[in-house]
Amino acid sequence: MFRRLSKIMLAFAWLIFAGGDARAQAPSTQPDLAKLADEAQGWLSDMIRINTSNPPGNEMAVAKYISAILQKENIPNEVVEITPGRGIVIGHLHAGPLPDAANALMLLAHQDTVGVDPSKWSVDAFGAVVREGYIYGRGAIDDKAMLAANLATIVALKRSGARLARDIVFLASADEEQGGSASIKVVIEKYWDKIACAYALNEGGRVMLKDGKVQYVGIQASEKVSYNVIVTATGPSGHGSIPRPDNAVVHLAAAIAKLGTYQVPAEPNTITRRYFEQLAKVEENDTAKWMRALEQPERADLAVKHLSEESPMWNSMLRDSITPTIINAGFRNNVIPSQATANLNVRMLPGHSIDELIGQLGKAVNDPQIKFKLAPDPGENAPPSDLTSSLYKTIERIAPQEFSGAVALPFLSTGATDSASLRLHKVQAYGLNPFPLTDADDARMHGDDERIPVESFRKGVMFLYHVVSDFASTK
Ligand SMILES: [Zn+2]
Repeated sequence: MFRRLSKIMLAFAWLIFAGGDARAQAPSTQPDLAKLADEAQGWLSDMIRINTSNPPGNEMAVAKYISAILQKENIPNEVVEITPGRGIVIGHLHAGPLPDAANALMLLAHQDTVGVDPSKWSVDAFGAVVREGYIYGRGAIDDKAMLAANLATIVALKRSGARLARDIVFLASADEEQGGSASIKVVIEKYWDKIACAYALNEGGRVMLKDGKVQYVGIQASEKVSYNVIVTATGPSGHGSIPRPDNAVVHLAAAIAKLGTYQVPAEPNTITRRYFEQLAKVEENDTAKWMRALEQPERADLAVKHLSEESPMWNSMLRDSITPTIINAGFRNNVIPSQATANLNVRMLPGHSIDELIGQLGKAVNDPQIKFKLAPDPGENAPPSDLTSSLYKTIERIAPQEFSGAVALPFLSTGATDSASLRLHKVQAYGLNPFPLTDADDARMHGDDERIPVESFRKGVMFLYHVVSDFASTK
């Protein structure tokens, strides 16, 4: 009852406040997007200069920086310290007197980055150096560019005085790269009230730049689920001078040789089928032919084979995948160890069962000396986002307006993002890295000399603003 009364009072206060604020009644003005992109570029550079390599993350420093900008723009926000030194920023623009999570759109980006090996970089990884049209720095793509673009979007909406049809929730998250105790999972569990929303835009999609033109805008609507499986070989220990057929190292090596080339049958799903169908419109003839053949039952198997051979990423999008990543065996040159282990990084298509796959792998290896065990902390097995939602349709409509000749298509990412946690919370979350990037640009993510073309960054800021303002403004 008290809650209800206070809500009514809050609504009343909002009406008075809104009525008294001249800007709220003024007609909305189109923001100067070139100027906005300039500002956003400054924010991106500043944020690159704040080292948030995870571990340890230290996101609090960036969180305070972002909060100060929101503060200056009179956008209500708070910094929440999830664990010591690890802060997130939550900002809001409200469409009406009461928060309305059932229609709210979240703009999400993570503040932490992976680490760097400074000896491999040609510039200071935290210097935000601009060279030959690129901004260099750890996080230049992943994910400080999106963080700056999200910030530019909410600031521009606020300044324009646009009448909103839905609430905007700004979230600068932490601990995405490690998914530990300060990650979005924890934020959803503990602070859902503060970030509640129905839609979200996050990293994970891509704007593919090829031969100087945007070929497609990939809207990430689903992602593979990450697991680690530990393979253990056991056998008798012994002297290195007496070879034995039951040597654990030999058995592990044989198992890994089989597992490394093991192909789970392909299973195109709604998203990958639609992806290839759309991509066929802009691909070269030969490749496009195989993409269309996926839909012809008598040629589908051959099509899968061709596409899988043409691109390792397509291969991974089409099936559960197994990648050996670590091998551990032995401790002395002249000792046969009694145990040898390996790690398999397994990425499952959403909805598939890891236990079933482990069963199949056991049969394929067929060796009583080999055992499989699922490692703790598996990824989130989330249902895909809806390809007919109003947000998906907005991006699909705006993408070709923004980049002429480009197609919009749904995308199933092979890597994991924070979106899976949101999807499990019934949020229609989509990945939209709005910056046009080539494969070569993209490959530097998590790598040495990560960089983003200045022009692509600016274009991405504008594209994101257009999508969000179209989706969130009253028409
Ligand atoms: Zn990222």
